[in-house]
Amino acid sequence: MNISHIEHLGIAVKSLEEAIPYYENVLGFKCYAIEEVADQKVKTAFFMVGQTKIELLEPTSEDSTIAKFIEKRGEGIHHMAFATDGVANALAEMEEKGIRLIDKAPRKGAEGLNIAFLHPKSTLGVLTELCEKPE
Ligand code: ZN
Repeated sequence: MNISHIEHLGIAVKSLEEAIPYYENVLGFKCYAIEEVADQKVKTAFFMVGQTKIELLEPTSEDSTIAKFIEKRGEGIHHMAFATDGVANALAEMEEKGIRLIDKAPRKGAEGLNIAFLHPKSTLGVLTELCEKPE
């Protein structure tokens, strides 16, 4: 497995409408995409910071994992995503090393990336996502 960089940081927010002005007007980033990911029950907004993105996550439903996260811990950093060259192989390697997986196989995330999550119990409390651009 080869991790090249932090692909994005996922940040849970109650409202994109309220959060985006901070990133645009205070930090000076430009929101270049807003996308709803129906099966994760979130609406996402993306900013580019060097080669790393910031992904804001707004829950679209009460039973969204992001809604539950905000309820328990408030708004803030939700996960860290690493860019890797092969998610399926990386998952196999992680599992072999005793890391608990949330996703046993890659699935489709925002921006058409292949993604998979590792369990925070195995990653020192940091919900970790692996992702790759599809071929
Ligand atoms: Zn993510």
